[in-house]
Amino acid sequence: MQDFHYQNGTKIIFGRETEASVGQELKKYTNKVLLHYGGGSIKKTGLYDKVMHSLHEAGIEVFELGGVKPNPRLSLVRKGINLCQEQEIPFILAVGGGSVIDSAKAIAAGVHYEGDVWDLFCGVAVEHECLPLATILTIPAAGSETSSGTVVTNDEIGLKRSFGHESLRPVFSILNPELTFTLPTYQTACGIADMLAHVLERYFTNERHVDITDRLCEATMKSIIDNGLRVMNDPFNYDIRAELMLAGMIAHNGSLDMGRIGDWASHDIEHELSGMYDIAHGAGLAIIFPAWMKYVYHHDVNRFAQFGSRVFNLEINLNHPEETALLAIEKLESFFKALGLPTSFSDADLPTDHIEELAQKLVCDCDSVGNYVPIKEADALEIYRLAL
Ligand code: NAP
Ligand code: FE
Repeated sequence: MQDFHYQNGTKIIFGRETEASVGQELKKYTNKVLLHYGGGSIKKTGLYDKVMHSLHEAGIEVFELGGVKPNPRLSLVRKGINLCQEQEIPFILAVGGGSVIDSAKAIAAGVHYEGDVWDLFCGVAVEHECLPLATILTIPAAGSETSSGTVVTNDEIGLKRSFGHESLRPVFSILNPELTFTLPTYQTACGIADMLAHVLERYFTNERHVDITDRLCEATMKSIIDNGLRVMNDPFNYDIRAELMLAGMIAHNGSLDMGRIGDWASHDIEHELSGMYDIAHGAGLAIIFPAWMKYVYHHDVNRFAQFGSRVFNLEINLNHPEETALLAIEKLESFFKALGLPTSFSDADLPTDHIEELAQKLVCDCDSVGNYVPIKEADALEIYRLAL
């Protein structure tokens, strides 16, 4: 097991109607805030009015910046940075999904940075102060409500990149499962695929003697799969929505990383898809993850067989564990299909003639991606081929 430090300071406020407490909670930190949100779902659902009411009651001065698109754009981040600088706004409240929260984090990181905020996505270390932020989550998926990371698309060059810093973990996050009742089925499914992928990225590790986190990962995956299937037929069931909201947070709050180094190649390979084609991140992962698995399972057949046995209750074929490994990959693919997600480029109507460019872009700023099996350009091309 690897040595590690673990700290996650995000306070979680979980449950029904918890969004009504946002003003009181925020007042402990600031009396002036940037309210950041997406393309309008919070106005349609009435959440915007509730949040405004709570903020005004608490006497908090509110500046607004809406319009965050899924796969959040650098151009809006720059707008947010200018607004915070001009109006001397010291705190950001993100109300929405991973895209809104990631856009808020990028703004928070850019306000006191002297250079261009994109530098931080290109490897420049954060050595300056970031603005604090808080969130009201409306879709369980990205786990950005407790994570230190942000993923943004540079809309000038079509590259999607990420970076992380401890100071970008939200001060608090409000999670009310009822807020997810209004999610379209497809978005619910994309969120489920993303949270499952966050556990899978951690599960496929070269570390040995990580039994406790292996089993925590397996339990989390089983719960995501069970509740993921159930929510498709029972979308207004509070308890199912609550299980998924908690699972999305646990999948990415760092507790499943303890003592192990995860992979993350599939996320990087997917980011090229959502960067180029603007496909939903979770749908991109449902396409890429099974292909990545088919390409790398030989690296450690027994781990894939263990995954099949403990997550999908398969009996391990001791003479031919690769048979169990391949069956496990099939099971995962069938799960994504059962959620109505695409598992290939053709399912998602993505063009198939740019895969060389996707593979080139993936490694344009590094030699390889992933830790479990380092993926170079030629490997990525094969993975994209397997996903066609
Ligand atoms: P999202 O992109 O934030 O939202 C997807 C869509 O769902 C939007 O159109 C949004 O509409 C709608 N929506 C959200 N909540 C809703 C609700 N309660 N009712 C109705 N519609 C709702 O989805 P996401 O999957 O959470 O975030 C994806 C992004 O996160 C990707 O860019 C991905 O790369 C990134 N990500 C980040 C991390 C991290 O650690 N930072 C990890 C994994 C992925 P509106 O815009 O109208 O609100
Ligand atoms: Fe993700």
